[in-house]
Amino acid sequence: MPDTSAETIAPPAPEPAPVSAPDTAAAALARRVAAGDRRALARAITLVESTRPDHRAEAVALLAALPDRQALRIGLSGTPGVGKSTFIEAFGLMLTGQGLRVAVLAVDPSSARSGGSILGDKTRMERLSRDPAAFIRPSPSRAELGGVARRTRETVRLAEAAGYDVVLIETVGVGQSETLVAEMSDLFVLLLAPAGGDELQGVKRGIMEIADLILVNKADGELRPTALRTVADYAGALRLMRKRAGDPEGFPKALPVSAVAGDGLTAAWAEMQALTDWRRAQGVFAARRAEQAEGWFLAEVRAGLLARLAEEPAAATLRRLGAEVAAGRTDPVAAAAEMLATLG
Ligand code: GDP
Repeated sequence: MPDTSAETIAPPAPEPAPVSAPDTAAAALARRVAAGDRRALARAITLVESTRPDHRAEAVALLAALPDRQALRIGLSGTPGVGKSTFIEAFGLMLTGQGLRVAVLAVDPSSARSGGSILGDKTRMERLSRDPAAFIRPSPSRAELGGVARRTRETVRLAEAAGYDVVLIETVGVGQSETLVAEMSDLFVLLLAPAGGDELQGVKRGIMEIADLILVNKADGELRPTALRTVADYAGALRLMRKRAGDPEGFPKALPVSAVAGDGLTAAWAEMQALTDWRRAQGVFAARRAEQAEGWFLAEVRAGLLARLAEEPAAATLRRLGAEVAAGRTDPVAAAAEMLATLG
């Protein structure tokens, strides 16, 4: 049996929320989140999802007041129909069965575009959603993708502060969302369906390159032989790719699973833990987290600058200078320099 205790993935006993901060509404909410209050967590997520400036200020205060806790962040991607919800439900229940607390968050680029969601369906993962050790949060509708990235990073932080041991960040295999999710995860898992060899080409190389584990789902019944062949095909393809610096031999790996039958889930979890333990021992885990934190900071600064450009009076200046450039009265470079100077 692999060692599946919380200790292998979670850091030592978390500190309580800082109480020295002034007892604002944000600090009070942070304390409730840190105490594992699910309603408070849901409220906190709604707060970080809001774009209202006063909410934003409160969200910033809330995030600053959270205790520093770490979960294992697992990014999971797969095209619609591959079995993501079925897998997350089975995998999540396996983890909660081992005494771990699991949060599931969704990054749904379709909702960013159209307001309609592929992942937001409330009836998904019914059993897991009733499990007191699990917390499921669908993707918000009608957020732009940049907003989705910010909201997801902050939601991950909230879930970690709330004491979840594993945070699963789910996305559909379209657009830029995989890279986005991989960039905020410790591990990236790609869920695939059994397929003929020719379909292997359909998986973009870039996605193969960010995957730590490829799980070929539906390895049951009549589909099992095809699934096993698909695993062998991907294992072959992965061997041809350059091993990532800091990773052990044999990774990235391809494995068969059946979310419906519950087969291969323990093995998949053991691989995730083995890779995580190795990366921790090598210092790769912490280095990656540090890099992600820095990337998050830069993304926030950029988002903040863009938000300021959209506000008055900057927006008016931007329009005026844009019109002057269009009319040939001002040079684009000079106009940009003038614009940036007004932000100083
Ligand atoms: P999602 O769109 O990726 O979330 O996929 P779902 O979890 O909704 O699953 C899509 C379909 O595949 C459903 O009909 C599931 O019952 C089926 N499915 C999911 N996992 C398995 C599996 O392990 N084996 C088989 N045979 N079918 C599965």
